[in-house]
Amino acid sequence: MTEFTSFDSLGLDAASLVALTRAGYEKPTPIQQKAIPAALAGRDLIGCAATGTGKTAAFVLPMVERLQGKKGTRALVLAPTRELAIQIAEHLEMFGRGRGIRGAVVIGGVGMMPQTRELREGHEVIIATPGRLNDHLEHGTAKLNNIEILVLDEADRMLDMGFRPQLDRILARLPKQRQTMLFSATMAGEVAEFASRYLKSPERVEIARSGTMPERASQRVFMVPREEKTALLLALLAEDEASTLVFTRTKRRADRVCHALDRAGIKVARIHADRSQGQRKMALDGFKKGAYRVLVATDIAARGIDVEEIAHVVNFDLPNVPEDYVHRVGRTARMASSGKASSFCSSEEKDQLRDIEKFTRRIIDVAQVPRDAPVFRDAVARRAEFATESMPGRHPQRRRMHSGAPGRADHHPAAAAHASGEKPRVVGRFKPRRRR
Ligand code: AMP
Repeated sequence: MTEFTSFDSLGLDAASLVALTRAGYEKPTPIQQKAIPAALAGRDLIGCAATGTGKTAAFVLPMVERLQGKKGTRALVLAPTRELAIQIAEHLEMFGRGRGIRGAVVIGGVGMMPQTRELREGHEVIIATPGRLNDHLEHGTAKLNNIEILVLDEADRMLDMGFRPQLDRILARLPKQRQTMLFSATMAGEVAEFASRYLKSPERVEIARSGTMPERASQRVFMVPREEKTALLLALLAEDEASTLVFTRTKRRADRVCHALDRAGIKVARIHADRSQGQRKMALDGFKKGAYRVLVATDIAARGIDVEEIAHVVNFDLPNVPEDYVHRVGRTARMASSGKASSFCSSEEKDQLRDIEKFTRRIIDVAQVPRDAPVFRDAVARRAEFATESMPGRHPQRRRMHSGAPGRADHHPAAAAHASGEKPRVVGRFKPRRRR
């Protein structure tokens, strides 16, 4: 096949080339080289590319060109997470600005009214998460009868997240005559089945084999007991100043890790499904700008995180689904920068590690747990001390205030009062939580 090496050899028009220069894109990435000509020709497309390869521009640029001069809502982009939807909207803004192509972002966690207004105004592209779009369809505030272009981004994730019924409902409202483009970093069985149902003789663009990693990311795994994971994380963070994204299995564990890092004086934020949209945005923006060195996240947030300088991805817990490993590690070594990925594997997680290695067709190097590192030793000792203190009959709060160990207790007004000999002020009463 023809090798395209510059944007102007892909058939893009002058306005797109200007927008690309403005965005600082010099050369098309492999997915862009292969997908753009087919997408411009109006063909259905399956794009299978590792994350961070530039697939958003691969569908946004042709979409903008194909919608030029048309009135009303003509394109729909579906994404699994709010963050990803917002990022796609940012690309649309970058490439559609000044060309009359506007995007209506239809996502959960924010009010419906502004979205209803944009939908009524007939913004040319709807960028939506499936749940909220269905809400609008039920209220009659979104109409999809003129859609000519449908994009399903991170299709495997949408299917994994149980969006299938929602997707089917949306797809039933779309005109049959349309262009459909489906993108996914991995092409597991369900995606193939979905594609065969909804796409017509699609052009297949496979840049990296399903399950392959960004090549520049160096990967290692630490075999570590669960109770030493926090100590290991603190020790790794002490090794450099790198911006780090930490993944945990649950929202509660994300909260706990975040608090542990905060106590250690590390600038950290967290992002998971129980955080409000505003909190998620603040965490992500702060991380992007460098106000937070560490972002702790659950998988829900993994797809939408496009931060150029993530140097280190830590799998504090291994994911249950091996595809998630690819997506998590794909957050580092995006585009030109290189990065590393460290995974913590406890004895309970060995099956997950085996599945990941099978899926990625690669054995991950085992690294030594830095047990001699002072930070690791201190953290393990603190944990042991805390465990003893927590034994029946002991009073952890009181003990910690007397211990002189650095931490929150030093700043506690009651501790200061105690040190100065004053009677401590009662600021609240401990009420045991009833077990559910
Ligand atoms: P994506 O895979 O679409 O999430 O893109 C990953 C990152 O690469 C985003 O920050 C894009 O803005 C950037 N990017 C995409 N294509 C190019 C390109 N041809 N040259 C430079 N940066 C790009």
